[in-house]
Amino acid sequence: MNCSVCGAPAQVEVRRRNQAFCAEHYRAWFVNETRRNIKRHRMIRPGDRILVAVSGGKDSLVLWDTLARLGHAATGFHIQLGIGDYSQRALEATRAFAAARGLELIVVDVRQSFGLTIPQLAQATGRAACSGCGLSKRYLMNRVAEEEGFNVVATGHNLDDEAATLLGNVSHWQLDALVRQGPMLEGREGLARRIKPLYTFTEREVAAYAFLAGIAYQHEECPHAEGAKSLLYKDVLGRLETRMPGTKQVFLEQYLKKVQPVLKEGLAEGEVELRRCERCGQVTTGAVCAHCKLWDRAYARAKKRRLLPEDRGFDPRPKVDRLKPANEA
Ligand SMILES: [Zn+2]
Ligand SMILES: [Zn+2]
Repeated sequence: MNCSVCGAPAQVEVRRRNQAFCAEHYRAWFVNETRRNIKRHRMIRPGDRILVAVSGGKDSLVLWDTLARLGHAATGFHIQLGIGDYSQRALEATRAFAAARGLELIVVDVRQSFGLTIPQLAQATGRAACSGCGLSKRYLMNRVAEEEGFNVVATGHNLDDEAATLLGNVSHWQLDALVRQGPMLEGREGLARRIKPLYTFTEREVAAYAFLAGIAYQHEECPHAEGAKSLLYKDVLGRLETRMPGTKQVFLEQYLKKVQPVLKEGLAEGEVELRRCERCGQVTTGAVCAHCKLWDRAYARAKKRRLLPEDRGFDPRPKVDRLKPANEA
């Protein structure tokens, strides 16, 4: 198999596209496809300030690398979840990447900010760690973006992630989630625009880019992810893909192109009215936002179990740590 651009021996085969590339042309193809995704959906516009959610895994570091290569200045945002060594290594990989490239990084430590790690939060609320974790991440991304003056939040979701989410939503006919799913969600007052520039690449393609670009990422999966439904959906789609290359891409892209517009029109609901949370000031639909409610509940129970001192009240303000690029410090 030879590179479809220069004819040299190919290093990566993109079966669903019937293409193969040498290392150099694979990287060029990947960056160019990302540029096309951004352009096609007008994800990034002049004057935008971009915050990239960076976990330290391959997807988010590849996204950060690609945005930088395309000339988009983007600040990294890492949330230290406090999930043992896994979180420690995630932070180290993220810091090393930022430091080596002179990129600005913002870090929020959940325990330093709110008093409990994600596992302690799960323990105190009796809910699965992933639900509190997802809620905290969404909250912190929006809040930090607003407070630090960013109007765009970019995440590293790839085709496998998006196709798995779609399959999950279709399996349960979650119409609200189906209508909102997509590579770009417009921003509103107090809510940053959310973009997923890597949504057309499979996980394998992102991993191949990371490898060829020499990106040192954290390979380890979160210990809580084991048994997650998303992995089951990915497994099912992976089997279909093996038998029928291109299935994931057709499933997602044709949904977005053909089905979602009809669904949007059929539901024809007006925009949900948003207001500010009485406790923290973040945008929400109720009087008190889900994040403040969750932590209030966790505090009440954590005090009973003496995980927190009796007189400690929940303070919703995150402690933001800004790590300046090394070459400016
Ligand atoms: Zn080539
Ligand atoms: Zn709140």
